[in-house]
Amino acid sequence: MNPTSGLHLEENRPLAPLTTLGLGGPARWSVAVSSEAELVEALEWAKGRQLPVFVLGGGSNLVVSDAGFPGLVVQPALRGVSRSFQGDQCILRAAAGESWDGFVAEAVAMDCAGVECLAGIPGTVGGTPVQNVGAYGQEVADTILRVRVLDRTTLQFHELTAEECRFSYRQSIFNTTARDRYIVTAVEYGLLPGGEPCIRYADLERAFAGSARPTLAEVADKVRAIRRSKGMLLVSGDPDTKSAGSFFRNPIVSAAQHAALGRQLHTEPPCYPASPGSVKIPAAWLLEQAGFVRGYRMGHVGISSRHTLALIHCGNGTTAELLALRDRIVATVEQRFAIRLEMEPVLLGF
Ligand SMILES: Cc1cc2nc3c(=O)[nH]c(=O)nc-3n(C[C@H](O)[C@H](O)[C@H](O)COP(=O)(O)OP(=O)(O)OC[C@H]3O[C@@H](n4cnc5c(N)ncnc54)[C@H](O)[C@@H]3O)c2cc1C
Repeated sequence: MNPTSGLHLEENRPLAPLTTLGLGGPARWSVAVSSEAELVEALEWAKGRQLPVFVLGGGSNLVVSDAGFPGLVVQPALRGVSRSFQGDQCILRAAAGESWDGFVAEAVAMDCAGVECLAGIPGTVGGTPVQNVGAYGQEVADTILRVRVLDRTTLQFHELTAEECRFSYRQSIFNTTARDRYIVTAVEYGLLPGGEPCIRYADLERAFAGSARPTLAEVADKVRAIRRSKGMLLVSGDPDTKSAGSFFRNPIVSAAQHAALGRQLHTEPPCYPASPGSVKIPAAWLLEQAGFVRGYRMGHVGISSRHTLALIHCGNGTTAELLALRDRIVATVEQRFAIRLEMEPVLLGF
């Protein structure tokens, strides 16, 4: 604790245990803030010392450098979920520090549809708008109404509409045009009481084929079970879950590039529609075609034995090793298919 401030500041706190990968060095300073006033105080403290600030949620989409971070890491620990009704919508407003999976469980228990397929995603509520979290046919952009933010430059709070957040595939203003400008303190989701579950994804369609309409709870449970089978649900002791989730975004290529790839490989590459004239190719498929298969190892890091896109830390490793594996994959895929993969997790301290 720093004696000159009411904030509980810590010095040289290791960041690895605060991330799902379990890699990286310490933060020069860190603080958990449990109110908006404390958040402002923390930013003023850092500004007075000209320290860079990083906002840490659940650390589930993060790669921390081995040297750590020379500034202040702020963890929004704001809690609480409130409920109101507007027309046929149930509006749940959750504070940024709430566990995302806990929030989904609460929404499902209230029989409110809209986030049931996002069960089992690790991290905090505040992290979800950043990369427009999505899975199994849903993404938070489908239900987010407003995002309450603190503007780091003016120290003013604003309520951004979903439109202002400009959500798209794994993107929003928070990780593109306004990166590092805002800190999310609360998110408002508009859900449908008694609404039908979303069963759009092939795995879910198969699981419920021929049965009567499942409940939201059954769909959320099935999503968690599928995620668990793929090592994409955090389960203590499961080595495949020491990851940051999917490490690469699915690349979007032109229809002509897709056709050329098919001619090169003498097979029709799998794809999903993206914007007009372009398609999304599963990054996992590209990795496998390039020889990076499940269970692949390189020193103390590797690829999950159950999910090709999850790079994992096998223990006693370093971030440098993980990034060397990333570089090997990116270079090989680019050399073979002229497609440059982009990494999904955020880098800190580089
Ligand atoms: C096993 C596993 C499975 C996963 N599955 C999925 C999946 O299916 N779909 C998916 O989309 N993602 C998935 N992820 C990635 C990750 O869980 C999500 O991106 C999650 O929303 C990250 O939230 P977080 O709180 O952990 O953020 P962190 O990892 O702590 O931070 C990520 C980024 O968000 C910023 N951030 C965090 N909180 C705030 C805030 N309050 N205000 C402003 N910026 C903030 C950080 O500064 C950083 O830039 C998975 C990860 C793992 C480990």
